[in-house]
Amino acid sequence: MDALPEFEVVQPSTLDEAIALRGRHPESSLLGGGTDLIVNIRRGIVAPSMLIELNRVSELRVIKADARTLEVGSSVKVADLAAHPDVEQHYPVVAQAAKLIAGPTHRNMGTVGGNICLDTRCIYYNQSEWWRGANHHCLKTTGEICHVAPKSRGVCFATYSGDLAPALLTLAAEIDLIGPLGKRTIPLSGLYIGYARQDQPITESTGDGKYYLSLRPGEFVAAVRARNTSGLRSAYEKVRIRRSIEYPVAGVAVALRRDGDKLIDLRVAITGTNPRPVLLDGTAEICDRPLDDRTFQRLDDLVRDQVMAMKTTFTPGHYRRRVASVLVRRVVERLFAA
Ligand SMILES: Cc1cc2nc3c(=O)[nH]c(=O)nc-3n(C[C@H](O)[C@H](O)[C@H](O)COP(=O)(O)OP(=O)(O)OC[C@H]3O[C@@H](n4cnc5c(N)ncnc54)[C@H](O)[C@@H]3O)c2cc1C
Ligand code: SF4
Repeated sequence: MDALPEFEVVQPSTLDEAIALRGRHPESSLLGGGTDLIVNIRRGIVAPSMLIELNRVSELRVIKADARTLEVGSSVKVADLAAHPDVEQHYPVVAQAAKLIAGPTHRNMGTVGGNICLDTRCIYYNQSEWWRGANHHCLKTTGEICHVAPKSRGVCFATYSGDLAPALLTLAAEIDLIGPLGKRTIPLSGLYIGYARQDQPITESTGDGKYYLSLRPGEFVAAVRARNTSGLRSAYEKVRIRRSIEYPVAGVAVALRRDGDKLIDLRVAITGTNPRPVLLDGTAEICDRPLDDRTFQRLDDLVRDQVMAMKTTFTPGHYRRRVASVLVRRVVERLFAA
């Protein structure tokens, strides 16, 4: 196992202190539970000289949940979110996604902010220094080419694999971002910019597997908020290689409403496939009609067109897309019948 390099850990106890520290040390990294970041530091993937641990900031540790609204601070532990009775009752998609993150010890340490901002993953990236060195690194770190798509002209396709984001996207969640220049609130969908399009330059709203979040310098996630909709049914399912502890091969969140025989509202979000969690475009057009084979055919088409799984994990891309399709069909069918 590689030894950890030297770094300083600072532990602000107020939000103002955290903002000031972040402003003064732009080269720092934010630390939640460290279940992703410390692994990456140990592997020599990143080497921040300072970690700003946010877990002592009480303003960031709040969960407010009732039948109308959900608000979760970024330092809330994943295990606490998963077990919160009002989250389980009113926002089942969120509680179910939280329960399926990693293993019990990771959920006890891991935070909502860390999960939302989880680094993208790839078989050529989540490796030790010597392994990556033997492959001349890749362009997500210090190398010159992408081993997954050598002709990608500078684009990285590493995969976003967090479980909470798709669940929150189906609830049209918003996110509070705080930084040295103040606070702003954006739709959660606006945080994820991993489009991996070769014909578009990297900007604040269009990135790839390397530039996958729209955070501005010094900014961090303070909280995520969502509203409930009367009659909304929601659920999350994922397929993983080891069922007790594993990132998703694909994970699918669904929120829908039914009126009699008709599907009147449908939101589907997918993780583990693209450099961002994908909120499927086009689901509104298949609503206001009964759920039948035509609906499922259309859903298959939407997944096929928008899921761009590459060989960035141990399972082939086309298999992950197929898994996503099957999960979408399965969860929609189950929720509609419930
Ligand atoms: C074996 C194993 C299996 C795993 N399986 C899963 C899985 O199935 N599903 C899954 O989703 N995850 C999985 N993970 C990853 C991880 O455990 C979880 O995603 C966890 O919730 C990350 O939270 P954390 O607080 O530990 O993040 P950290 O490691 O502390 O941080 C992760 C990233 O987010 C940044 N960050 C942290 N807080 C903030 C903030 N408030 N604002 C902005 N940036 C911030 C950090 O700087 C870092 O870049 C797994 C990890 C391991 C080791
Ligand atoms: S997709 Fe390509 S550039 Fe990105 S981490 Fe994998 S090999 Fe590296």
